[in-house]
Amino acid sequence: MSAAADKQFWFVVGSQHLYGEEALAEVKAHAQTMTDALNNSGLLPYPLVLQDLAVSADKITSIMKEVNYRDEVAGVITWMHTFSPAKMWIRGTKLLQKPLLHLATQYNESIPWATIDMDFMNLNQAAHGDREYGFINARLQKQNKIVVGYWERQEVQQQIADWMDVAVAYNESFNIKVARFGDNMRNVGVTDGDKVEAQIQFGWTVDYYGIGDLVQYVNAVTEQEIDDLMAQYAELYVFEYGENSKEAWEASVRIQASYEIAIKRFLDEKGYNAFTTNFEDLHGMKQLPGLAVQRLMAQGYGFAGEGDWKTAALDRLLKVMSRNQNTGFMEDYTYEMAAGQEAILQSHMLEVDPTLASSQPRIIVSPLGIGDRKDPARLVFDGKAGEGVVVSMADFGTHYKLLINEVSAFEPTVPAPKLPVARVLWTVKPNFQDGVKAWIENGGGHHTVVSLNLTTDQIVTYAKLVNLEYVVIK
Ligand code: MN
Repeated sequence: MSAAADKQFWFVVGSQHLYGEEALAEVKAHAQTMTDALNNSGLLPYPLVLQDLAVSADKITSIMKEVNYRDEVAGVITWMHTFSPAKMWIRGTKLLQKPLLHLATQYNESIPWATIDMDFMNLNQAAHGDREYGFINARLQKQNKIVVGYWERQEVQQQIADWMDVAVAYNESFNIKVARFGDNMRNVGVTDGDKVEAQIQFGWTVDYYGIGDLVQYVNAVTEQEIDDLMAQYAELYVFEYGENSKEAWEASVRIQASYEIAIKRFLDEKGYNAFTTNFEDLHGMKQLPGLAVQRLMAQGYGFAGEGDWKTAALDRLLKVMSRNQNTGFMEDYTYEMAAGQEAILQSHMLEVDPTLASSQPRIIVSPLGIGDRKDPARLVFDGKAGEGVVVSMADFGTHYKLLINEVSAFEPTVPAPKLPVARVLWTVKPNFQDGVKAWIENGGGHHTVVSLNLTTDQIVTYAKLVNLEYVVIK
């Protein structure tokens, strides 16, 4: 997740020269107080940096050009302290290529009836300025976020924080690079799509590698490197030998350790931050990468199985947006249909994201049940409880479409001693019948990304920024 670590946001405060230099000095002082308070709130994930007052078209245009040019600036927050004529904003706003948040707030919380005069009105007229400025953003179809409320309030600051995460993810979307180890799973429809269009619309680079390219990296991993990684596993996970001998178990896990080292090295050397595998395409490999993939998911790499590069890229995107908390690749597996207990069991053949684990994962070695490779090692755990969103992207031929369903995850209470994979359970909104029906009716995939940290509003904010059709089921 280091890519997002150095980002910042610029705070641009609108005014004009009409009210004199004394008024502008006061605007500037208010803006500095607000900037400091927001930065000290402890809620914003990235710093806010106050810029020169936006008092002319030339100044605004120059700020916005600078925002575009600087990689560390992820977006702009504007506040109309006074009345800032919107024609001044047209050129700069049109040029701005990064997310924009219009903070509709004002310096004073209440109207001071005992002292209010025309000087005060002229200086504190956010309500007036908001409408002038909002008009031009609407007319330019800027798809900017609008947050309304008093700036000292936590719920307002939280909305700014949530948007910052989306803005950073939007910027990072253009840096998402997916390495596909093998092609898509044969015959599967929903995991396929137009890679050129994905690059045009979302900025995603999607490259194919024959599995032999990865096997070379696997073969180059040393025993010492594997020993070191096994020591890390021993600190983090429960070793569960099950019906295997200790030696057979260790031999299997060591293969996954070599895959983790090899895949990470391959991705890092070539600049990829997401990848896919395909259990049908493993020539030269002894196991399907399972534990190895889960370890890389936990480190923030995007992933999806069966060559599903769309979901791998979406996984990386939402991991950046959530700062890799409780967010990962998922697959709808099995319904619970008992009346009043309806739910969906989520899992994958191996690769369930450990950021969703509610307890210390166990490493187990067990047959895969499909494919023709050796028994792979994987992390097994139960998923956390929490409110969240499940998201899927599908290619409809003429356009991409995003499906968002709000879900309530809960911890399973009944043990499943024979289930050799991690499990996550959730109910869908508004209810099982309507939620599942809407998902199927809209053509949502079985591969998804779930996040117990992100909100529907955040996903929709991103979708609007990239002109992506979306359906919300809630
Ligand atoms: Mn799958």
